[in-house]
Amino acid sequence: DILDFSNRTSPPFSSKVSNPSKLTSSPYYTEVIRQLRGVFGLHKFRRNQLEAIIEALSGRDVFVLMPTGGGKSLCYQLPAVCASGQTTGVTVVVSPLLALMKDQVHALQEKSVDVFLWNSEASWDEAMQRMRVGPKPSLMYITPEKLKESNVAQNVLTELYNKQQLARFVIDEAHCISTWGQDFRDAYRDLDQLRTRYPTVPIMALTATARRNTVADIIKRLGLRDCAFFTQSFNRPNLRYIVEPKGKNWEGSMMDFIASNHPNKSGVIYCLGRDKCEEVAKKLKDRGFSAEHFHAGMTPSDKDWALDEWRSGRVHIIVATIAFGMGIDKADVRFVIHYTLPKSLDGYYQETGRAGRDGEPADCILYFQFKDFMSIKNMIERPDRDNIQATPESITRQTAAARAVVDYCLNISDCRRIQLLHYFDEKLEEKSCGHGCDNCAHSVPLITRNVTTEARAVVELVRSFQTKKESVTLIQCRDILRGAKTVVVKSKQYDKLQCYGMGQDMPSELLEQMIRRLCLDDILQENPVMQSSGYHTDYVVLGPSAEEFLRSKKVTEIQWRPKAGKTGKTKIQTAPKTSRPKGKQRALPEVDEPIELYEDDPPPIAVL
Ligand code: ADP
Ligand code: MG
Ligand code: ZN
Repeated sequence: DILDFSNRTSPPFSSKVSNPSKLTSSPYYTEVIRQLRGVFGLHKFRRNQLEAIIEALSGRDVFVLMPTGGGKSLCYQLPAVCASGQTTGVTVVVSPLLALMKDQVHALQEKSVDVFLWNSEASWDEAMQRMRVGPKPSLMYITPEKLKESNVAQNVLTELYNKQQLARFVIDEAHCISTWGQDFRDAYRDLDQLRTRYPTVPIMALTATARRNTVADIIKRLGLRDCAFFTQSFNRPNLRYIVEPKGKNWEGSMMDFIASNHPNKSGVIYCLGRDKCEEVAKKLKDRGFSAEHFHAGMTPSDKDWALDEWRSGRVHIIVATIAFGMGIDKADVRFVIHYTLPKSLDGYYQETGRAGRDGEPADCILYFQFKDFMSIKNMIERPDRDNIQATPESITRQTAAARAVVDYCLNISDCRRIQLLHYFDEKLEEKSCGHGCDNCAHSVPLITRNVTTEARAVVELVRSFQTKKESVTLIQCRDILRGAKTVVVKSKQYDKLQCYGMGQDMPSELLEQMIRRLCLDDILQENPVMQSSGYHTDYVVLGPSAEEFLRSKKVTEIQWRPKAGKTGKTKIQTAPKTSRPKGKQRALPEVDEPIELYEDDPPPIAVL
């Protein structure tokens, strides 16, 4: 099974690939080294580059799985300029972003490589001149749209094929072909015809998207045969992963964190919508930070300007939607902050992966609250400009992907790194993290609590309200369980209810977390109802899994870590100090009885 990812960490992991001595004794080795130095001005290979290059020159299909910044381009650019190889001629490169292609073409031209970029800007005359009349370029970059829609392009390829002048096809960012991924591109789908149309031309696929099912899908769609498969550990040891609950004034703490840990350093803050980007950038500027926003709604020149300011270091913080991503190659990014929940763990890995490319320590902080999951769900279900293709299938897939992120946030016991890499089917030893994530750095032990009775009581409570056709909010449910004496409880006589106060030995935030988790698991559901005030209130009702939950005898447990001092800038370096109660362990803080008007006083993260 070439897709056994479990021992990805032991290099070089690939199928039927030569050992080092076989690499150096390969007939192509001398030529490869000559071009490495002569054309690219480099002296060493990074992991798997030489292996992939030799296999490509031997005429095999090659799959390169390498984290962003790992050096995938060289794997196809170098064979393209080699004079020898099983197949020679033009290397045809398909890549999804024109800006990326232009950068690469420009860089190759500076190295005097003969390269042609065939996009919509190239005239017919020019294309004919470069591809039919004159000497053929070593590389031809082509957009997937051009390849799909242009008969001229297809005729040129067929002509080259018949003359055996196609060296190989290169599919960069190959995950765009897979509907599994978030970046699926319609024009990529047609790439499955390359193999049938040009059966003898080897294909090289490259991506940084490491999920096993995505990889299998790419291989299947491209029709790769007996491909040499290269991958490596996706662990990024210099990145620290932290999940911070959005507590009171969390934005203030976020800014304090940046100011004291990364003053005048480069960073990215990811937000969900365009308006939010602008708003957050403005807030940062008001607080004296150097920040700009970046999103897909800006004009190309505004985008270029913002990007340039940030790349050059004149602007420190870029506040962006995920439109800001592929192709950003800035080495000294010291922090990546997720202002809202990322849409998938895949995306989260890619986005945080833009930090610390220089190998120096960098922080990745995800600010979390349950509400953000609901916002994402709304976005997924109600397609708008940012989410064009919402089929029932894509909704299910995207919701599951977002749920996985919530699970990640809620898992406060396992190492973040292990959780993330597990998602990519890679196993990692716990000790390799050190204190590189919030969960590993914590000194406060986790507490597991059986909340079966309380969870069932809440669901029964919601059911009884529903039967009575009365509405109740999540916060009211919490207050009933904890036996609060709020205005609402008193006025509605909730204190007469049977379950009133049955969770009074649980901290308020833990109760709330439990109910939110029930919502997340579709046992309960929050329904927004528009009020006469023009604002909406979320009422809790039974969810699709409620009956099954009540029927089953399943034990419900919740894991949590008592609040330990102030979180903030030194959270990871110095483990939070707690005064543990002596004698009988009572880890639960006292329940006070504030009258909550707003429900945004989020708790420490707990998990069922
Ligand atoms: P990827 O496509 O995997 O994200 P790139 O191909 O864009 O990565 O390479 C990232 C950076 O690494 C580039 O600046 C490139 O010049 C550099 N690089 C690649 N291979 C080597 C190498 N063998 N030695 C030194 N630098 C390299
Ligand atoms: Mg690349
Ligand atoms: Zn860890």
